[in-house]
Amino acid sequence: MIKVTDLCKSYGNTIALDMVSFEVKKGHIYGLLGPNGAGKSTTMNIITGYIAPTLGEVSVNNHILGKETNQAKKCIGYLPENPPLYPDMLVREFLQFVAAIKKVPKKSRLEEVENAIKKTGLSDVSGRLIKNLSKGYKQRVGIAQAIIGNPEIIILDEPTVGLDPKQIIEIRELIRSFKKDHTVILSSHILSEIAAVCDDVLIIAHGRVVACDTTDNLLKETGAARVFTVTVKGSKDKTKNVLSKLNKIVKNLQFISEEKDKVTFRFETTRRDDIREDISFALSDARLLILSLNEEQNSLEDIYLTLIDDADRKFAEEMARRKLEEEKEDEDEDSDEEEDSKDDSSKDSESEADEEEEKESSDDEKDADDSAESDAEKEAK
Ligand code: ADP
Ligand code: MG
Repeated sequence: MIKVTDLCKSYGNTIALDMVSFEVKKGHIYGLLGPNGAGKSTTMNIITGYIAPTLGEVSVNNHILGKETNQAKKCIGYLPENPPLYPDMLVREFLQFVAAIKKVPKKSRLEEVENAIKKTGLSDVSGRLIKNLSKGYKQRVGIAQAIIGNPEIIILDEPTVGLDPKQIIEIRELIRSFKKDHTVILSSHILSEIAAVCDDVLIIAHGRVVACDTTDNLLKETGAARVFTVTVKGSKDKTKNVLSKLNKIVKNLQFISEEKDKVTFRFETTRRDDIREDISFALSDARLLILSLNEEQNSLEDIYLTLIDDADRKFAEEMARRKLEEEKEDEDEDSDEEEDSKDDSSKDSESEADEEEEKESSDDEKDADDSAESDAEKEAK
């Protein structure tokens, strides 16, 4: 659906994106997650054809941006970081204007606008001026303009930023409802937002992709140990004895609590399969009744923080290395200059040679200019 290959974007000395590659499949909700300044908006602005990358390629439904930009853009509805709303227009009037700009055929324009108003819950305010709406409703208008024209892909840059908790829940529900008919990419710097809405997560930091997977796979791939708590009807010592014997499965066994004839232990396992069967058979063989056996979810938050910390560390190391290299280059240049000034005669002869070279190259340039001129003259004739 969308294929992004080796995307790079520089603003002067700032590298906003550094070899970003990923793929977006139909019918999923993707979360672009990363701290402020990570490159989320830049990525979205490039995918939607708003800005051009410095390097790399984006194809949307097999239309390559830069070659078939208009066809690619038609497949996408975009809510940028600062939604392009006209405050002095009425909601319906603005959406009709957007439909005209998006070249929605005249006969289906009214229906299309009404549809967008209904889908985004704007019916009650459709006759009001945009400037008089609350932030939450303005955001809905921004989303409505993105879905006009029924694009296959909807891209939303930080859609809930600045909204109150109730509005956030409403907008999240709205985004989830798009999954039925659209592929959605949304960005956020808040992990819980992405975890609540998205099937797949793409984590970026310092303009680089640090992880791209489903939430489940991310949890698996980081190799984090799974943590279980088990509560058993029986004595502490007997339970400890049985669980300790399962030393291929049970690691770091930890006593948590004991009350009356109820005892709770916590343990870790590196096994990826379902270990509950082994645990329950072993305990029931010892006539210990399991009252509960639960797996603690190693939260996505932990993984996110670890990945971002790693990326920050690598980035800092790389910056320090580059700085050292630059300093070394400067030092080398300085010592070269010192050497040069010590040996005047060689400097003179070198500079003479340089001058000679310069003269030659300027002659060459002149020749090239002359020939270009004569070519142009010829063409004019
Ligand atoms: P995010 O949306 O993840 O917060 P952005 O994509 O907006 O991040 O920015 C990524 C980096 O590029 C930041 O360091 C930001 O300062 C820089 N940047 C973004 N836009 C511009 C611009 N127009 N000119 C200069 N630097 C920019
Ligand atoms: Mg941004």
